[in-house]
Amino acid sequence: MRHHDLVVIGSGSGNSFVDDRFADLDVAIIEHGVFGGTCLNVGCIPTKMYVHPADVAQHVRRAGRFGIDATFDRVRWTDLRDRVFDRIDPISAAGRDYRLHRVPNVTLYEGHARFTAPHQLEVDMTDGSGTTALGADRVVIAAGGRPVVPEPIAASGVPFETSDTVMRMDALPEHLVIVGAGYIAAEFAHVFSALGSAVSVIGRGGAMLRHLDETVTERFTTLARRRWDLHLDADVVGVRGGPGDVVVELAGGATVRGDVLLVATGRRPNGDRLDLEKAGVPTHDDGRIVVDDLQRTPVEGIFALGDVSSPHQLKHVANHEAKVVAHNLLHPDAPRRTDHRFVPAAVFTQPQIAAVGRTEQACREEGLDYSVKVQEYADIAYGWALEDRTGFCKVIAERSTGRLLGAHLMGPHASSVIQPLIQAMSFGLGAREMATGQYWIHPALPEVVENALLGLDLEGAERPGSGPPGRDL
Ligand SMILES: Cc1cc2nc3c(=O)[nH]c(=O)nc-3n(C[C@H](O)[C@H](O)[C@H](O)COP(=O)(O)OP(=O)(O)OC[C@H]3O[C@@H](n4cnc5c(N)ncnc54)[C@H](O)[C@@H]3O)c2cc1C
Repeated sequence: MRHHDLVVIGSGSGNSFVDDRFADLDVAIIEHGVFGGTCLNVGCIPTKMYVHPADVAQHVRRAGRFGIDATFDRVRWTDLRDRVFDRIDPISAAGRDYRLHRVPNVTLYEGHARFTAPHQLEVDMTDGSGTTALGADRVVIAAGGRPVVPEPIAASGVPFETSDTVMRMDALPEHLVIVGAGYIAAEFAHVFSALGSAVSVIGRGGAMLRHLDETVTERFTTLARRRWDLHLDADVVGVRGGPGDVVVELAGGATVRGDVLLVATGRRPNGDRLDLEKAGVPTHDDGRIVVDDLQRTPVEGIFALGDVSSPHQLKHVANHEAKVVAHNLLHPDAPRRTDHRFVPAAVFTQPQIAAVGRTEQACREEGLDYSVKVQEYADIAYGWALEDRTGFCKVIAERSTGRLLGAHLMGPHASSVIQPLIQAMSFGLGAREMATGQYWIHPALPEVVENALLGLDLEGAERPGSGPPGRDL
């Protein structure tokens, strides 16, 4: 059995931390799928490369509101698809080639890894060459997650897509039926409807994007209802049909018919396929591997990071955790802790959504004394330029101190406009100081943030005008 100093399971975020600092170690990376992981191949990056053309298509359709007559003719789907994957696939291939041939201290095993003992693994090699046994002083589990497919659909034999496959289809669906109402459903509903498909969305709960702040959930669901054929509080009891004609059966007897079915009902961590019990590595009830804030599992020398263990299934969180793991492997005597205090997230649907910190409902449940301000895009100058009528920035701050508790944006460029709020929360900058201690470019979109902050009702603070206060003489 070959023994390595370090074995990393997964070539997503697990691959990215193995750099020159590890040149003295004998490292193995194990990957059973396409090299590079979810974000690169089937997640963040390709989805956003679809979202932008979808936004362009929407701009063309809506150009009339600016006095521009333009017509949207059609989408060249295969050109659009190939633009995305002609960019991504070579990056994955180059990453694989680099690990296979160019880094002398790293061995890439292509196959499925399972534990046989705490520091021993077996790899079922993808090329059919059999099983390879490995030993390791230290193991990093970076095995990510996978889409969940509900039993009535999985067992039906009816063809369906998931986020892993839907972007590589050969033709644009005429009518896409999406089961699921979370962020992946919201992003694909936008992409496909903007590109010309009819879209139905089926959600089990009473709203889309239910995990977000209540104002976002409510307003987004209202907009979604106008744009898509939305079925909420709907339980899928069965599916029937075949290629090109799929019928989803809902409790109560209603049916939803389309030519393509996309299942977007959430993701689950891949720990259940690693024989973790043989290593003694425990998981939470939801399947996530248990780690402390140094990213250590309770088993000496075994770490985990990213979607396989994190409560936040986000690439920037996986990257952060990977940096912490790298540091803690190299400097066990001066370890670093992961910081999950202010984790932002965005949903690249339309309108775009971004959030950081507590929702208003969480503040209420915690019994906090807080102030809220919802500033509409429509009431700032750049909102007029955009003709935006639905966007807003909601900020929540502790009334007595001005400490920012949460921020929730829905509208054009929300994922960028939120960044100063993430910065303020991360560095402890209060709402009032943030609003008044700096210039805000006029008439740019971040004025929506400035005005939201100025609108907060905070104790002992007079509501100042906008702009920096001037320097004392
Ligand atoms: C459609 C979609 C859109 C997304 N959009 C965003 C976004 O906009 N922003 C954002 O922050 N996040 C987004 N995410 C989430 C993001 O992609 C993940 O949080 C991130 O990629 C997780 O990285 P990871 O390294 O933990 O896992 P992964 O990148 O999934 O890497 C795990 C790797 O381990 C391999 N593996 C698993 N088990 C084994 C095994 N037993 N043996 C060998 N190899 C194994 C897998 O094949 C995989 O390559 C999106 C996800 C999806 C699905």
